[in-house]
Amino acid sequence: MDDDYNRNVESLRENEYPMLQDAIYLDHAGTTLYSKSLMERFMTDMTSNLYGNPHSASPSSQLSTRRIEDIRLGVLRFFKADPKYFDVVFVANATAGIKLVAEAFRELDEGFSYIYHRDAHTSLVGVRESAVANRCLDDKGVEEWLSCDDRPPDTTTTLFAYPAQSNLDGRRLPLSWIKRSRDLRSQGTPTTYTLLDASAFVSTAQLDLGDISAAPDFTVLSFYKIFGFPDLGALIVKKDSGRILQKRKYFGGGTVDVVLSVKEQWHVLKDHSLHESLEDGTLAFHSIIALGAAIDIHKKLFESMDRIAKHTAFLSQRLYDGLKSLRHANSEPVCVLHSRGFDSKNTRDMQGPIVAFNVRNCQGAWVSNTEIEKLASVRKFHIRSGGLCNPGGVAASLNLEPWEMRQNFSAGFRCGVESDIYAGKITGILRASVGAMSTIQDVDAFVSFVDEFYTEKKTSRPILDSSSTSQTPDDLFVESLTIYPIKSCGGFSIAPDIHWEVRPEGLRWDREWCLVHQGTGQALNQKRHPRMALIRPSIDFDRGVLRVKYQGDPPADVPDEISIPLSSNPAFCKVEGDKFLSSRVCGDKILAQTYTDEINYFFSRVLELPCALARFPAGGSSPRHAKAHMQKRRSPSNDITRTDNLPGTYQPPTPPDSDNETQKRPILLSNESPILLINRASLNSLNDTIAKTGGKQASASVFRANIVLSSSSQNDEQPYSEDHWASIQIDQQKFQMLGSCRRCHMICIDQETAQKDEEPFITLAKTRRFESKIFFGSHMCHLAQRNGTKGSQYPTIKVGDIVKVDAAKE
Ligand SMILES: *Cc1c(COP(=O)(O)O)cnc(C)c1O
Repeated sequence: MDDDYNRNVESLRENEYPMLQDAIYLDHAGTTLYSKSLMERFMTDMTSNLYGNPHSASPSSQLSTRRIEDIRLGVLRFFKADPKYFDVVFVANATAGIKLVAEAFRELDEGFSYIYHRDAHTSLVGVRESAVANRCLDDKGVEEWLSCDDRPPDTTTTLFAYPAQSNLDGRRLPLSWIKRSRDLRSQGTPTTYTLLDASAFVSTAQLDLGDISAAPDFTVLSFYKIFGFPDLGALIVKKDSGRILQKRKYFGGGTVDVVLSVKEQWHVLKDHSLHESLEDGTLAFHSIIALGAAIDIHKKLFESMDRIAKHTAFLSQRLYDGLKSLRHANSEPVCVLHSRGFDSKNTRDMQGPIVAFNVRNCQGAWVSNTEIEKLASVRKFHIRSGGLCNPGGVAASLNLEPWEMRQNFSAGFRCGVESDIYAGKITGILRASVGAMSTIQDVDAFVSFVDEFYTEKKTSRPILDSSSTSQTPDDLFVESLTIYPIKSCGGFSIAPDIHWEVRPEGLRWDREWCLVHQGTGQALNQKRHPRMALIRPSIDFDRGVLRVKYQGDPPADVPDEISIPLSSNPAFCKVEGDKFLSSRVCGDKILAQTYTDEINYFFSRVLELPCALARFPAGGSSPRHAKAHMQKRRSPSNDITRTDNLPGTYQPPTPPDSDNETQKRPILLSNESPILLINRASLNSLNDTIAKTGGKQASASVFRANIVLSSSSQNDEQPYSEDHWASIQIDQQKFQMLGSCRRCHMICIDQETAQKDEEPFITLAKTRRFESKIFFGSHMCHLAQRNGTKGSQYPTIKVGDIVKVDAAKE
């Protein structure tokens, strides 16, 4: 335990890592953080010296060359490598270093056979595609391969690759394998080379290449993982193994001495030093100069990697013990830990400061990682989840068989998608990792967070009495109607006396437009761009336009307001070039009409990002069919994770009778369903709960509903009765309820100010979470009637309309 260090770090934090502010950063295995001193040193260096493109005679070029040579030596010293035996090849990142090795081995006459460890990062796995044969081994497999005396000799050159530390769970693999695999050479088999991926290891441990006989032939790493900056990698090559790298075919500027192209084709590789023949093109010389500063400053701030190793081991042990100790009231563990513990003595050689885990509820069901990440991000924790580019590690930790992975893939599972539980198995892990500037407070806060939201503290659940909440008040009316003409932008309230048209795809003019990124064509959303809330559209039927204002501080050169014709006549749209823009909304490809540069300029300036307004062709003739993203849930009994904090008893919502999930509906931009409804009584109940903690009460607007219902007698409120409705009637119009609306932390954005808060997401997470998803409000769609009445030809609803619940679900 290193209290001194921790105290030092605490005082260091404020000065050196001001960007942390109130963030709790636990993704050091993704990248650690750069210090302010490093950035200042780099800036001073850059602004007080004239650095030119290296390898030329000018003084500025010479200066760059000299600095690079010094820093190359500095890198070797950092890893205790003797420049007599080692060389450093600067590459973009660890992956580029691995690729360089693979490119060379592929050119061997007989090809090469590749052996890699199960815990390998994806970048290491990919090498197998260049090999004539490959094997993926676990520890036992490696041991067998290394110790088997009577095995048939390998007939080709072998490349043996493994990570010094798994990026997934932080496990450190035996470095002794390097020497042992080299010893195989002396047994008369063709040469075995070793490729060590030290990327994860070096960030919190001293890589020591001092013993030449135990050092890998090739070592790759990325410097941002040690210093936070610059984004640069290295391939450290043992010189006497380096020749093989020159087998690669490609050469670029910088790696050749002479090239003939006209009449004859001939070239000579530079061979003065190894790195010269491998560093294609202009070196990342500014980054290398930054690396020089990074090495110096790191030493000043932290003294040695060994100190960092001690400190981070202490912290991750605390984190491990903390998570491990969490128990549900029925004494089942909250966390399933995939990383090794620190209970034996020499654990520091076996485990890096990473804790990989999953969360289960008290009945042993998995809690979705993506949902935990959302809640964590509201609480300003920075962690990582998913497969973490470690296919073998994740499959082993979670017992996922290849056929299951394939089946999950068919079922829609991808890197980066939301759903992560298939057939009762979770597909990814959560990873919290600490670094040199982490503190005790960081890890304690994280353990408390997991405890606060995921430990179920009561064994006895309230007995569910469905009669109390499924009772429906009989005095409901439409309190307000709101449309969102531009997806994710501000709402437009419909005035009380206006009869507003209802269409199969939703309320008229709701999500008629959207903003798309000019580069990617992706629809923008408020979750990523909170300022979109300040874009306020209103519909002006007199002038036949959508008027759009920006409610923040608009840049001086944009008009206060712009107008967009309501008419979809193409004459009003952009004419030159493509009139249609290919865009994606929720993964569905759609074609949209675009507008003039003036209009796009307005949006691009106020949001400070290059975007364009887009509109979808009317009629739904094009492939404008998106799946309604409704939530299916299983029987109520296994749904409940929380019931204790809700006033009264609570019956979880049951899914709609029909399987709406696969039904295609002609709607698009409203993401989920044609119409979203919330109940004032539920909001009041939620706000009562928030009030108890002193949190910020939620305004109805954060839920971005189309319809807010309210009951006229305030004293007979029935919160969440909407969960039980099957269909409702608003004045003359019938609507089918499609299920509860799943929520993300977008509801934390104040629609007036675009500022974020933790509420109401935090309280909802405690009171309305089912199978780790959070629900508030209901989806619904209009049911067309064909009875020849005026109301069936032109269905409308208005504020003040009486609402009747036609049918309640069981
Ligand atoms: C980060 C990491 C990589 C990939 O590094 P890049 O900088 O993305 O090339 C590879 N292996 C391990 C073990 C890592 O931690």
